[in-house]
Amino acid sequence: MSHVIGIDLGTTYSCVAYLEGGEPRVIPNLEGLPTTPSVVSFTQSGEELVGNLALRQAITNPSNTVSAIKRLLGKKFDSPEVQGVMKKIPYTLTAAKNGDVMVLVEDRAITPQEISAKILAYLKKCAEAYFGETISQAVVTVPAHFDDHQRQATKDAARIAGLNVMRVINEPTSASLAYGLDKKINQTIAVYDIGGGTFDITLMEINDGIFHALATNGNTFLGGEDFDNRIVEWVTEDFSKEHSVDLAEDKLALQRIKEAAEKAKRELSFTIESEINLPFICTDESASKHIQKMLTRKKLEELTGDLIEKTFPFIEQALTDAGSSPDKIDEIILVGGQSRMPLIKKKIAEFFQKEPVEHLNPDEIVAMGACIQSSILQGNMTDLVVLLDVTPLSLGIETENGRFTKIIEKNSTIPTKKTMAFTTVEANQRRVRVHVLQGEDDFAEHNISLAVFDLVGIALAPAGVPRIDVSFEIDADGLVRVSASDVSTGRSQNIEVKSSSGLTPEEVNKIIKRSADADEEADIDEHA
Ligand code: AMP
Repeated sequence: MSHVIGIDLGTTYSCVAYLEGGEPRVIPNLEGLPTTPSVVSFTQSGEELVGNLALRQAITNPSNTVSAIKRLLGKKFDSPEVQGVMKKIPYTLTAAKNGDVMVLVEDRAITPQEISAKILAYLKKCAEAYFGETISQAVVTVPAHFDDHQRQATKDAARIAGLNVMRVINEPTSASLAYGLDKKINQTIAVYDIGGGTFDITLMEINDGIFHALATNGNTFLGGEDFDNRIVEWVTEDFSKEHSVDLAEDKLALQRIKEAAEKAKRELSFTIESEINLPFICTDESASKHIQKMLTRKKLEELTGDLIEKTFPFIEQALTDAGSSPDKIDEIILVGGQSRMPLIKKKIAEFFQKEPVEHLNPDEIVAMGACIQSSILQGNMTDLVVLLDVTPLSLGIETENGRFTKIIEKNSTIPTKKTMAFTTVEANQRRVRVHVLQGEDDFAEHNISLAVFDLVGIALAPAGVPRIDVSFEIDADGLVRVSASDVSTGRSQNIEVKSSSGLTPEEVNKIIKRSADADEEADIDEHA
């Protein structure tokens, strides 16, 4: 059997790993580097670049260079999150027919799934070059707080990339596997995961090889990008005051400032000041203008301190949900590049009254855990390792007066299944509508609509007589499935599904075919 790889598809960087002799190892990309920028660029000559090559295009070709696509996976164009992101990115977004967000490259609208697929296909190619064989199976990680749409979109992206996803696993859970596997420990750990775009906190109990998630919480729109944006705002506001020039509309200048901001932010994890030096940032009638500013660690902390504070209510909620408290946590694992920021480490240490574990590489640990999970799934782990994860959001249906009735509570161990009985309210009613949602609000409209299911072809009967059992299931990937059976006849009940978001299986197949055709054409061109 060919190798199965573990992929951490990150907002800003991605990483791929495999297991060798029971040890997780990172597979270098085609440039020999352990992580790859999650960036895709579409050049004027029709080329598609991924990773560092794409990142290099960001300054000269900003409107066709797509970064942080993970923030848009499974999202609606109109959502406040997407509308917020839209103001800060150099590429253009548009709405699909079903309201999903899409990226506009030249005059072509591309789904976030397809763009993510290009990153995944590149990582697949790196692994294939490394092993000299075709790779078709992977475990892919997602932020723990990803909802059903975001998980499904990730899985579709992998399918488009030619990967069969053995399992979708939560990033913090994956990190805990990599941390705890060889230690034979009995501990409760907190995994604080802050990457480029998302924040998650997960509390895990590790007991004799059983990894049991107790609770998870987080925000899929809080991450390193927000820290970068604060620096960008600081630089542009000062520039505007000094020169009366607004750089907000200058995509090229903004991209240069953003890159310099991110670089300075990284440096400030190890130094106390860093210079942002951008000559010829713009020119007006009088002269060329330059940016030369010193950013100190103190100033960075001032600009971003509230973003760090925003993570603590999520930690408190997760502790409450797990019936735990800071003093009951044995170790804190930091995951995601942004967790290198000294103020985050300090605040975490203060909160838990304990220093976080230092020796782990926050960029690689998630991919490493994913390849361990792939090995568990293949039955290759000699020691007993059991992974019990939880669902991050409650699942339920819309009931009278637009209320939301929970069927499966958040933090329930997955896979899980609950059945509810439905009946008709009118004589000879042939269909019953079920609106399925995810979230915590008491009202349906404030939660995430997953799909509307119509139970159709119900046998003619007086009101209240038919009994249809509807099963709501969350599988090991955290994905929702609904099935129904007519109790009176014992037959499975037909369901018509109208998904609120995402690609249909037919659309995924069409995209796969289109990209296979494009590959074939490219091959012909190459050999012509
Ligand atoms: P990830 O999604 O885990 O790859 O995390 C990427 C995020 O971590 C980006 O926002 C980076 O800017 C940030 N990051 C990486 N290294 C550092 C560092 N040394 N200090 C602060 N942030 C960092």
